[in-house]
Amino acid sequence: MSADCPFCGIVAGEIPGRIVHETDTVTAFLDANPLAPGHTLVVPNDHHERLDDLSEDLASDVFAALHRLTPAVEAAVDADATTVAFNNGSAAGQEVPHVHGHVIPRFEGDGGAPIHVVAGDRPDLADDDLDRIADDVRDSQ
Ligand code: AMP
Ligand code: ZN
Repeated sequence: MSADCPFCGIVAGEIPGRIVHETDTVTAFLDANPLAPGHTLVVPNDHHERLDDLSEDLASDVFAALHRLTPAVEAAVDADATTVAFNNGSAAGQEVPHVHGHVIPRFEGDGGAPIHVVAGDRPDLADDDLDRIADDVRDSQ
């Protein structure tokens, strides 16, 4: 547990949260400043900052909760779809440094956008560049 972390506080029951799902390893609760009705956050119970700080088992538990909750959230608020995403690191917009997956209900005509808009200007990459990047990703695992 991290002393200043609001999500650790919710998991510990020290900060109020509208908890919708909890297991030994994962907790889900409604976002306090929702982007849509039903906006839900899924967190590992232990404090980890980024996705790559999780063990594979814990990452699987987080994804299992997302998989379970996404249809439940859609049904609860009669959504047409969901955007499911992580802001993974401060440069990506992560404000709370405790891994959390967002489940954001989406509605036809809601005025929102697909995740393709989040990364700013698109790079102009040649096939050689893409080949090299693919090699680098394979070599980095
Ligand atoms: P991010 O920018 O991905 O770090 O998102 C953090 C999210 O946490 C925001 O959507 C906030 O509205 C939400 N949030 C911050 N504090 C709380 C809290 N105490 N309870 C529920 N949601 C929170
Ligand atoms: Zn925490």
